Amino acid sequence: MKPLLEHSDFDQKKSLYALLLRELSDELGRLGFPSYRAHQVMEWLYKKRVTSWDQMLTLPLALREKLVEHYSLLLPSVVTVSGSADTTQKFLLRLADGELIETVLIPASKALQGASSNRRTLCISSQVGCAYGCRFCASGLDGFKRHLKVEEIVAQILVVEQFSNQRINNIVFMGMGEPFANFDHLLRALEIINAPWGIHLAARKITVSTSGLVPRIRDFAHRPEQIRLAISLHGASDQVRSQIMPINKRYPLAELMEACAYYVKRKKQLLTFEYILIAGVNDQLEEATRLANYAKPLRAKVNLIPYNRVEGLPWERPAEAAQQAFLHELLRHGVAATIRYQKGHDIDAACGQLRRRELLATPA
Ligand code: SAH
Ligand code: SF4
Repeated sequence: MKPLLEHSDFDQKKSLYALLLRELSDELGRLGFPSYRAHQVMEWLYKKRVTSWDQMLTLPLALREKLVEHYSLLLPSVVTVSGSADTTQKFLLRLADGELIETVLIPASKALQGASSNRRTLCISSQVGCAYGCRFCASGLDGFKRHLKVEEIVAQILVVEQFSNQRINNIVFMGMGEPFANFDHLLRALEIINAPWGIHLAARKITVSTSGLVPRIRDFAHRPEQIRLAISLHGASDQVRSQIMPINKRYPLAELMEACAYYVKRKKQLLTFEYILIAGVNDQLEEATRLANYAKPLRAKVNLIPYNRVEGLPWERPAEAAQQAFLHELLRHGVAATIRYQKGHDIDAACGQLRRRELLATPA
């Protein structure tokens, strides 16, 4: 493959991967080119997936020269890929400033989806590190580094598709970081991912997960796209939730549930509650009953996730029987609930873990 632009170009130039079609069209107009040229550029970028200017064969040389002058096509580089193509593959990516992020590719379980299923989910990061410090999570352990730029969010999809030579048809914002804390970049990236001129992934194939930033949940309820929303609950009483999620002190459950009810009513769209099961912390049956009481009126679906062990943290997943008992308590109350067995447990697939291992191995 042809080399991309030099790193030194990165700072002065805007990334083309952060631009909306209408903006490119305006900018090219100012430079004296007709607006259909912007369509052509986006087509080369997102449909034909070229990564260098001189591959954009339908563009006149004068336009290519202008583009080179103003825009960058730099993509993150792949540092390591762990796992195998038929299980979970975890990509460690290096950004232009040297920061590391993780992106995880999860193929459909044939057993669950049927042999013909070709569902490929990409779990993408929204920040380097995370400021919210949930006690069980590897991403928050070393604090917050920075927000991802729009192009760094979009590029995760492009780089993985290029590497695996396969299209991704499902995206979850469940990698490193809190997407709603990087709200403006998130919204713009979602527009590029969803747009017919962009990556063109249907809104219902995109899920954003939040630890519960109440004002942003309300803002998101006003967005027109039918993007799915998942709330990381992990506790159904303030006492349990505050113990493991500091954000619960800022936005306690009553406020969070009010925002969820507002979202469901306003969007006419159902929510998912994510609930990690941690032995002895949040896996009591009374907690399941309380969770059912929150989920039921909202018709929220509950995803139970047996905890993935994180190096250096004391938490463990409950025994299989305790997981089943928790599940059955939810089902008994008429809640749609499943246990999501994360694949890739063996390659540190929970968010933030691979980066942490790399950072621990190569201290600055
Ligand atoms: N910050 C957002 C999105 C990223 S975290 C959020 O918290 O929702 C994505 C999901 O992975 C969250 O539900 C999070 O709680 C979960 N998670 C974090 N660490 C985990 C671990 N060790 N095992 C299992 N799930 C984990
Ligand atoms: Fe941040 Fe989400 Fe991890 Fe909490 S679970 S520390 S919000 S990434």
